[in-house]
Amino acid sequence: MNCTKIICIGQNYRAHAKEMNAEPPSEPIIFLKPASALISDGENIEARLDVGRVDHEVELALIMGRRARQVAEEDALEYISHLAVFNDITARDIQSMARKGGNPWALAKSMDTFAPMSAPVPFSSVRDVHELDLRLCVNGDVRQRGNTSHMIFPPESLIAHISRYITLEEGDIIATGTPEGVGPLNDGDVVTAEISGVGKISNRVRRY
Ligand code: MG
Repeated sequence: MNCTKIICIGQNYRAHAKEMNAEPPSEPIIFLKPASALISDGENIEARLDVGRVDHEVELALIMGRRARQVAEEDALEYISHLAVFNDITARDIQSMARKGGNPWALAKSMDTFAPMSAPVPFSSVRDVHELDLRLCVNGDVRQRGNTSHMIFPPESLIAHISRYITLEEGDIIATGTPEGVGPLNDGDVVTAEISGVGKISNRVRRY
């Protein structure tokens, strides 16, 4: 599947917005990650030591099955072809510094290997996209737990909102935001993100 862009959603779970000291947003917060950051199961997440703290964020990824432009919310789910587990790796110190200065935090989200994604499963094979358990473990210890029912903006609302302004192409990915419990990754850690009925992805961290 060819991906022209990864659109990520910030603070789409109330408890995560709170841990980031932010108010729950009244409209989806949107940012981009380049497709060059994508890696698969078993590949290393690599981050230079000089970028400081690097965090995990387990998220449900929606993969578009066809072009979506100005799609109504009631039709939006028909545009999803696959789902996957996504880990929105974030250079937190760089992001915090950018936020403090009122500057874009693109670099914090866009580095090579910062978009681990599991093998996609057909959307039709998943019973209910609005009721999926998310879980993330580091070295076997559970760090994040959540359920897609707690999203502030559910998938159909995200697709309607984004496609009002940005054409989504077949293969494009929407990372729908992370539940609470984000935290740092260290050299040698193995991070495993999992979503019930969707899949699992495991990656080792290399700091250098
Ligand atoms: Mg995220």
